[in-house]
Amino acid sequence: MFVLIYEYSRFISKYLYNAIKQETDCEPVVFSTFKELESFIKKERDNVLCAILGLVLPDGPNGEAADFCIKNKIPTIVFTSTINDDIRDTLIKKGVADYVLKDSNDNFDYVIKCVKRLYKNKNIKVLIVDDSSVARKFMEDVLSSHNLKVLSAKNSEEALLILDKNKDIRLMLVDENMPGMRGADLVNTIRKSFTKEQMAIIGISSYSNSILTVEFLKRGANDFILKPFNREEFCLRVMQNLEILEMIESQKVHATTDFLTGLYNRRFLFEAGEKLLENAKRNNLNLSLAIIDIDKFKNINDTYGHLFGDMVLKTTAKLIKNRFRAGDIVSRLGGDEFCFMGIMGDEAINIFESLRKHISSCDFSDSENSINITISVGITLKKADSVESMIKKADEMLYKCKNLGRNIVCADSL
Ligand code: GH3
Ligand code: MG
Repeated sequence: MFVLIYEYSRFISKYLYNAIKQETDCEPVVFSTFKELESFIKKERDNVLCAILGLVLPDGPNGEAADFCIKNKIPTIVFTSTINDDIRDTLIKKGVADYVLKDSNDNFDYVIKCVKRLYKNKNIKVLIVDDSSVARKFMEDVLSSHNLKVLSAKNSEEALLILDKNKDIRLMLVDENMPGMRGADLVNTIRKSFTKEQMAIIGISSYSNSILTVEFLKRGANDFILKPFNREEFCLRVMQNLEILEMIESQKVHATTDFLTGLYNRRFLFEAGEKLLENAKRNNLNLSLAIIDIDKFKNINDTYGHLFGDMVLKTTAKLIKNRFRAGDIVSRLGGDEFCFMGIMGDEAINIFESLRKHISSCDFSDSENSINITISVGITLKKADSVESMIKKADEMLYKCKNLGRNIVCADSL
């Protein structure tokens, strides 16, 4: 996606160009006239993420470039050298996505943060629930000017139907005072299926009534905004709530992922594995657990260095992961040991036999060296009373592999 830059100061243009190139997946394009910008937008409108523009430009001294972008529904961030209440009101009325003072490098970094936000927003669904068409229109305009995917409902009943069909909604804006089910009751109902970490809910009401605020929050809203809206505050709160959701999400990923390989870590295996085991027992399904260990891995580290060893671990992890389905748990137990757990009977033996052959035929190379490796796989096909005891069984089978000379698969029988 393109990020359009048209700003009088060459220093700012260059700074933004480099930062966008380095820090985002977007393609910055710098313009030196309004005409060039105009014709680019006419050709490439659908591929433009946003525009970063000076407010005062040689061939557009009154924000003409910004007006043109906004008319074309391009989220627009403007640079201004001064700010006062009048300029601020004018910019907000124009419908700019944000405005930034030119006075410090920190503000340029803020612009990059905005660009990243606008990029992420493209995949985020927001549901507005309000009986007032004026309020709905205001929120729809503001949110879509920030690239969010906006859905709207006139009442709680309609909102529940939309939610049922769009389980990936990440944020809801819920008015309190609506005919039918009240906003706070809607929040209460939604919280039975969606936690605060899965979906943020912002309560909205026309009354500056602190009891209502408290009620919304007690029923499970993440935040609260009062009408009449202050456009800027509204945007900032929406974005802040989305950022908090993302922070929680990334912490969750960190806590359950192995840093080097991107596979699940040991901790996740034990947590999710117990649930998988319980489910397999309840539904009388076969369950297998396999430990996959690279043969003589220490020699690889000793001969080619630790970095080469890391590359071998990462590639092996990918080769293992690609073999299995989404519901299976593929994790790194530690060092050169990986673990598979999934709903599978004795066909597991053939699957791991074929994985073993495949890995032994792959080249593991960097610019200097190219080697082949082998793996040994110990499998237990029996459900035990815990993940830990299944790991112990698979480990005994792995020990057998190593004693038999490595590069083989050993399983206990069903
Ligand atoms: P075997 O065939 O019996 O499995 O022999 P092995 O050499 O593979 O087994 P051993 O357990 O003796 O060695 C595993 C090595 O893995 C030892 C350790 O230094 C190395 N290792 C552990 N974690 C990492 C890592 O994150 N990166 C790299 N490069 N090496 C690691
Ligand atoms: Mg090993």
